[in-house]
Amino acid sequence: MNVTVLNLCSSPIDAYLLQNYADALVKGTQALSADTELLVCVPEETSALDTLAASKYVIPYSPVLREPTALYTAMETGVIRVHPIVKTFENEGWQHRPTTVVTGEEAYRAATGAAGKLICVNGEVKEVAVGTALSELVETAKPVLLGGCNGKFVAAAELANTTVSLEPLFDSIQTYGDKDCLAAAAAEAIHQCVGYSCHNCVLCREGSWHLENIFQSITAGKGKKDDLAMVEDIAPIMQEGCLCEFGRGMATAALTAVQVCRAELEAHIVKKTCPAGVCKAFANYAIRPDLCTGCGDCIDECPEDAIEGKKGFIHIIDQDLCEKCGKCAEVCPENAIVCGEKFRVPKKLVRVGRFS
Ligand code: SF4
Ligand code: SF4
Ligand code: SF4
Repeated sequence: MNVTVLNLCSSPIDAYLLQNYADALVKGTQALSADTELLVCVPEETSALDTLAASKYVIPYSPVLREPTALYTAMETGVIRVHPIVKTFENEGWQHRPTTVVTGEEAYRAATGAAGKLICVNGEVKEVAVGTALSELVETAKPVLLGGCNGKFVAAAELANTTVSLEPLFDSIQTYGDKDCLAAAAAEAIHQCVGYSCHNCVLCREGSWHLENIFQSITAGKGKKDDLAMVEDIAPIMQEGCLCEFGRGMATAALTAVQVCRAELEAHIVKKTCPAGVCKAFANYAIRPDLCTGCGDCIDECPEDAIEGKKGFIHIIDQDLCEKCGKCAEVCPENAIVCGEKFRVPKKLVRVGRFS
């Protein structure tokens, strides 16, 4: 007997469907799966779909589970792992029976006749017509991240030419404002990808390790001038050779970050600054001489012994030793320790009230 697997997870779209259209998911799956055995994968917290007469598999969320072989492995063993010989396993299906995998959105569409694409715009799920330009959905001057951590960065100028299709890439759009750092956004996307990777194939395992290190070091203020060229070398190899779509998508996210967020990445690497003021590595903590009372509380709190001072003297932070943890600012009773502001500070210890 053939098998149909309804593949639901904790993605924003599936969470939205489970919350609002659980009945439609049941109806749509039954419409799509007549005369087959029905299996359903649900996220841990799901109590919905009890009306669906089907074997249930509770599996954690991972975008790797868009790959049928990874989905079957997770159902069989609880481990998310893409089968090394993907094509053979795909052809054989679940337990060597012809298998169809249905997404929540496909079941919803089958039940309701909806023709649009569900898309999560900055956390809010909406249904939009296929063919809609992204510029009609979001207004932004900065690049957006399309399709989540293994999607792609798209320049603001390209949004008018990028139209919504039913591809998973259009499951989500994240926009960024002046106070958001694109280098940090790219680093976070790659970090998430590393967490989701099944680490089964060498190019994804090794490539993601390098990509994560590069983006983390850029946001940590340790970026080197050939870092972006290194991403441009590594990513195409991953796009070519990763075993599944997830790894190839991760490489695309990294490569497009370099292509369309280059100015912000270079500001971190070359000018050693974070234009959005987000990356702590570029933030300088300093003590305002007009507010410091010389109480000494900050010295006790600093784990790096980076603060110099004595009772009744204006305290000073040694920028070479400071690790920018912010603990001193939290304890200062005068709110004298600030971050990212520019003012003159004494070069040596000066009595409180004597510095001008
Ligand atoms: S590309 Fe990544 S997620 Fe896909 S099989 Fe290879 S290691 Fe696993
Ligand atoms: S805790 Fe604040 S007021 Fe006290 S010495 Fe440190 S900076 Fe000055
Ligand atoms: S930010 Fe942290 S490391 Fe730097 S001076 Fe304050 S307590 Fe010390």
